[in-house]
Amino acid sequence: MTFYENLVMQTQMNYSRYYGLYAEGKTPYSLSEKTALPYEEQIGRLVGEIKEAECILVGGASGLSAAGGGDFYYEDNASYRKYFGKYAEKYHFKGAFDGMMRQWDSREEFWGYLATFLHTTQTAGLREPYRDLDRLLQGKDFFVITTNQDTQFIKIYPETQVAQIQGDHRFFQCAGCCTDDTWDAVKPVEEMVKAMGEGTSVPSELIPRCPHCGGEAFPWVRGYGNFLQGKKYEEQYEKVSRYVLEHKDRKMLFLELGVGRLTPMFIQEPFWNLTLSFPNARYIAVNNQYDFLPKEIEDKGMVIVGDIAGVLKDAVERMGKEI
Ligand SMILES: [Zn+2]
Repeated sequence: MTFYENLVMQTQMNYSRYYGLYAEGKTPYSLSEKTALPYEEQIGRLVGEIKEAECILVGGASGLSAAGGGDFYYEDNASYRKYFGKYAEKYHFKGAFDGMMRQWDSREEFWGYLATFLHTTQTAGLREPYRDLDRLLQGKDFFVITTNQDTQFIKIYPETQVAQIQGDHRFFQCAGCCTDDTWDAVKPVEEMVKAMGEGTSVPSELIPRCPHCGGEAFPWVRGYGNFLQGKKYEEQYEKVSRYVLEHKDRKMLFLELGVGRLTPMFIQEPFWNLTLSFPNARYIAVNNQYDFLPKEIEDKGMVIVGDIAGVLKDAVERMGKEI
């Protein structure tokens, strides 16, 4: 098992042990009681730490995409209506994931919904918070680990620089995991959406199938299916493990963006552990809700509670003024 995946496994055990606490949106770690700096000083420190860092590990989670308009996963809101309108009216789902969890009367209708979902993220332009993040990272040595499946990061960075540990909407796998292969989902999704037109179901013959067993395909993602944790999955952990181990003695900034309370084990808690164990590490989190800074790393870290899009925008502006 790779270094980083091992860290995730450890934090996963911790999560199971204290599940009750996590389920309430809390954490078993004892948190810093220091008073947060005023916002302007926090922005100044964020910019300063980025400049000081010799290398940066960016952890991008759901809050980052949500801040840029990718907020249709968990609620029936304006952006959900914009992309999923015909299903919203017909089924009254509470966001994109809700629809994935429902029983569907036909596979054609299910695939109509799934194709709509994948098409939405595959064809979305680069969201503004990602652009601002990129501006902040200009000229830096950095690597990205992300739990986002929406392919935003690989729209700006080469795959060698990004670990997508929860999968990627651009690929299909066998729903039954009969093979370790993954294959292109972009073209089949485009064909399904085109054939569907204004309707809500796809023609039977367009339902994507596994080339090996003939069973249905499924997006290569964790969360609502049988996530294939084969070669492609291992490669993601190999990339991030290599980056961390090669840079561990340098001034490394762990920059956590938008981690929710559902999955602290992939980015947040490994970042806390690494910040604690690496002598030159720093940790900064931006979160629109939670002010979680462990006491043990309070001198090496900071949490900015605020709208991520706004924080990144303000940091870009500050950096521009300082150059
Ligand atoms: Zn198969």
